Amino acid sequence: MPTHAPPSPLTAQKMSQALEALRSRFGYQDFRLEQEHILEAIFRREDLLAIMPTGGGKSLCYQIPAILSDGLTVVISPLISLMKDQVDALRLLGIEAAFLNSTLTTNQYADVMQNLRSGKTKLLYIAPERLFSQDRQFLDFLQSLKVDLCAIDEAHCISQWGHDFRPEYLKLSILKEYFPGVPVAAFTATADPATQKDILHKLGLRNPRTFIASFDRANIHYRVEPKSQSYGQLVSFIKRRRDESGIVYCLSRQSVETLCEKLQADGFSALPYHAGLTKETRDRNQDLFLKDEVKIMGATIAFGMGINKSNVRFVAHMDMPKNIEGYYQETGRAGRDGLKSDALLFYSSGDYAKLAKFAAIDGNPQQTAILLAKLGRMSRFCELNTCRRKHLLEYFGETYAGGTGASCNSCDNCTKTIVRTDESDLAKTVIRAVQTLGGAFGVTTVADFLKGAASAKYAGRHEGLEGYGALKTHTKDTIKRKVRELVELGILRQEGNEYPVVRLTAKAAGVLDGTEQVQMTVLAPRIEKEEKGKPERKEKLSDLSYDEALFEELRKVRKVLATRENVPAYMILSDKSLIELSAHKPKNMEALQGIYGFGKVKLEKYGSTFLDSIKKF
Ligand code: ADP
Ligand code: ZN
Repeated sequence: MPTHAPPSPLTAQKMSQALEALRSRFGYQDFRLEQEHILEAIFRREDLLAIMPTGGGKSLCYQIPAILSDGLTVVISPLISLMKDQVDALRLLGIEAAFLNSTLTTNQYADVMQNLRSGKTKLLYIAPERLFSQDRQFLDFLQSLKVDLCAIDEAHCISQWGHDFRPEYLKLSILKEYFPGVPVAAFTATADPATQKDILHKLGLRNPRTFIASFDRANIHYRVEPKSQSYGQLVSFIKRRRDESGIVYCLSRQSVETLCEKLQADGFSALPYHAGLTKETRDRNQDLFLKDEVKIMGATIAFGMGINKSNVRFVAHMDMPKNIEGYYQETGRAGRDGLKSDALLFYSSGDYAKLAKFAAIDGNPQQTAILLAKLGRMSRFCELNTCRRKHLLEYFGETYAGGTGASCNSCDNCTKTIVRTDESDLAKTVIRAVQTLGGAFGVTTVADFLKGAASAKYAGRHEGLEGYGALKTHTKDTIKRKVRELVELGILRQEGNEYPVVRLTAKAAGVLDGTEQVQMTVLAPRIEKEEKGKPERKEKLSDLSYDEALFEELRKVRKVLATRENVPAYMILSDKSLIELSAHKPKNMEALQGIYGFGKVKLEKYGSTFLDSIKKF
């Protein structure tokens, strides 16, 4: 981590203007995470790479310098949906922003160009391919303007080491050639150390500084459930979140469709999003989701990049994602407003096998190995018995300090009460099987044997042996878990690195002759059990004690305003603002100023409407 030099007088002056802008424009009180240091670096005109979690507040880091400068800030961003969203949000704050992409009509395009020439536009959002269009004519045009800052969003797209490589990003190194004196600030939410180095190198940044904010998303509760009966479990889960927005990810387009049909049939408001739908349908479904007209988006990973909807309360994965980066990014779409949110994943080890097939890239063993290793890490995450948050943070190179002891108090492994039961008989069965197999096989084959499955490799060879199929009433995942737990309990052990085999330990004899009892964890599908009997009421969104009825009322008021302005409701004010309103019930404009998200413009535009409804209520 760089040391932070004391700001020069000029930087200090800019910083106080920045704080003023944060408060009066955006309605926020203080900078967050690394925002302050990043702003200082930009004001010193340094190149930088900033890694901040989703929802951490990356956009503010270039939006504030853009407002304060008299030149133009160019924002490179991969997705059209993101551009429109950000530009709409900025306009609601009274900031001159524009985007250029294929969705504009000729007239709109001419308008944007005119505003760029006249210097009216403060921020221009643009995709990398457009930057290099018309044989660099566009770059030449930009060069003729006063560009003060280049911001690159989703900067990990430039690296093959990342998980979302986009070749057109490689050309961005040209920015430093075309605009040598202009600082380039690269932003991403996911980059392991190899990717970080690659980004700096590929962009050709000069003496760049790197800022890494903590990746901990403290408001997200993580849980992983066995995949059996996943649909029923999902339903029990979302029943308690009926008025809330959520994304449910599936691996295939077909399963997205099936899921949405089932959810609709069960009375939930759900629509699909995947690459197999026409662009019109996708855009319409996304728009309905953003505007809270539909609550659940069933989707493949095609959905979500650039979605800034701040009130996504849960993200569920019906299938395991391909890597931890993807999982972190997808779950990170929950709770951008900082309110309590959930990440739920259904896991079966069969997912690993399925995804491993997709990971093989013809003629590129090196890339294949990277992808398979990432997949393996994802699988390990799912099978953890320890804190999931800690594991996630350590994956990204961070040491987890928070929580009490090793516990975060906000993941399934930290909050569940572990129920154990005597399973000595089952343990004996497993031990005998390992004996029969001569300690020559790994967990999977032992499980196949006990299941009585004809595993391809050993077909026929095990049938008829004692213990073959002895646990056939259990699922293979359950058997595997039991075998692994016996390893954890020190009754079995694993030997060898690449293909570890399962052998007995000295303890096993004691189990067989009955001198040692074996207590094993009971892992039933938990959600349904937990939710059963509970009234179908909503989860609380905040620890702040707020008036829930007033909150609902204010949501309606916000909806009316949003419809009038034709923007998503969260863009008018976030749920967090509404919670503060329904907790503090401000009576006048002055009190309203202290509420999260009420900057000058929003006070003027919406202040009296909200004050009136609170008064009436
Ligand atoms: P990212 O781009 O890092 O995913 P955003 O820039 O979209 O995150 O910020 C997430 C949310 O947090 C936005 O609603 C943003 O306005 C808000 N936010 C950003 N900085 C602050 C701050 N210092 N205080 C309060 N809210 C903030
Ligand atoms: Zn935990």
